[in-house]
Amino acid sequence: MLGWVAWVEESLTPEGVSYRWGIVPGSLHYAARRATNRRETENRAAPVGMTVSGVVRFGMTNSGAGRREMKLTLVLADAGVKAAASRRTPHWLWYGIRGMGVWQAWVLSLVAVVALGCKSGGVPAAPAAGQPFMSAVAGNPPAVVEDAPAPEKMDGFDGKRAYEQVVKQVSFGPRPAGSAALGQLQNYLETELKSYGCAVETDSFSADTPAGRLAMKNFLVKIPGEKPGIILLGTHYDTKRLENFVGADDGGSSTGVMLEIARLLCGQKQAGKYAVWIAFFDGEEAVNKEWVDPDNRYGSREMAAKLANSGDLPKVKAFILADLVGGKNPHFLRDGESTKWLKDFVWGVAGKLGYGNIFESAPTNFGGDDHYSFTARHVPSADIMDLDTRDVPYWHTPEDAMDKISARTLAIVGHTILESVKELQQK
Ligand SMILES: [Zn+2]
Repeated sequence: MLGWVAWVEESLTPEGVSYRWGIVPGSLHYAARRATNRRETENRAAPVGMTVSGVVRFGMTNSGAGRREMKLTLVLADAGVKAAASRRTPHWLWYGIRGMGVWQAWVLSLVAVVALGCKSGGVPAAPAAGQPFMSAVAGNPPAVVEDAPAPEKMDGFDGKRAYEQVVKQVSFGPRPAGSAALGQLQNYLETELKSYGCAVETDSFSADTPAGRLAMKNFLVKIPGEKPGIILLGTHYDTKRLENFVGADDGGSSTGVMLEIARLLCGQKQAGKYAVWIAFFDGEEAVNKEWVDPDNRYGSREMAAKLANSGDLPKVKAFILADLVGGKNPHFLRDGESTKWLKDFVWGVAGKLGYGNIFESAPTNFGGDDHYSFTARHVPSADIMDLDTRDVPYWHTPEDAMDKISARTLAIVGHTILESVKELQQK
């Protein structure tokens, strides 16, 4: 069965409360469809009665490639219904729709219309605190990948596989540090990496955050080498703590790239080479809205400190970090906080591969990312990230969904990193 994303929206209308819900194949733009009056309706007392005397509308819209929406609109005319409906309907309907094929969901939706019309307060109210984030997804939405270059041309890097890894991550819904959804992704990452034959070290720790003490987990893939020295690669896999935010590009894209790199490198012999380690960091995102130290980089700070304690940190020859590397029209500028020789090296490799129009020479400054945890400890580090507002207007908004991701960009970044590792092995 194909997986589908479901969304439910409630809003006040002059006629009463309007509900819209739908199933969005391969897309997550349900996220933007959130009732603006949510707080208002939730604060009202639940009424005992419920009637439907409005209209039921449904239809289908096409809004571009691969983005079809089916909509069902139910308008409740009785103003007294507002609170009960707004508290109850989304939750049970939501869970009902999750995991279903579209036609089953349609049937359920129609049953729901009838049930809403007939029942009087028969559905128990869901606890308000039970669902801080709308996690909306079931299975793998059908992935439309048309632009992935052939792996043979990319050192074996399969952009389509990397893309599907982003789809998989997004399918867990919003994944902030400490959430159950992130726990599901952690299980997936560990299982997936082990299936490639990777040796994976897991570090569970807890961090004091503005939201209290949160359990976090870093993963470190270790591909052993014969030369003394380590080439470190990294990504964060948590997503920003924002409602309806699934971080396809921010968190998902770089993690998809690193999974694909791990798949390729864990199977290779490292005779006469440096070790390659691949870090998957938890807790990169600030818990608060703003990025203010130390509320950010919880995972990379932890790993850098532990590698310093173990004596491994000075062995790290180079750390290449990726973050927001899946956009459709990327421009990777040279970050001022990255180590000069390493960013010149990586950007030079990209230029030789023909990606000079994407890896540009212009400078930028991100204001913070996981490499700061390593540059602070004098590890040569370079961050590949597109935070240019021209390219990522969806940054830290619910619009950061699968429709923003290009398999081609993932492959270009993966190819550049693989080739950089290969050339660093000669140094
Ligand atoms: Zn972010």
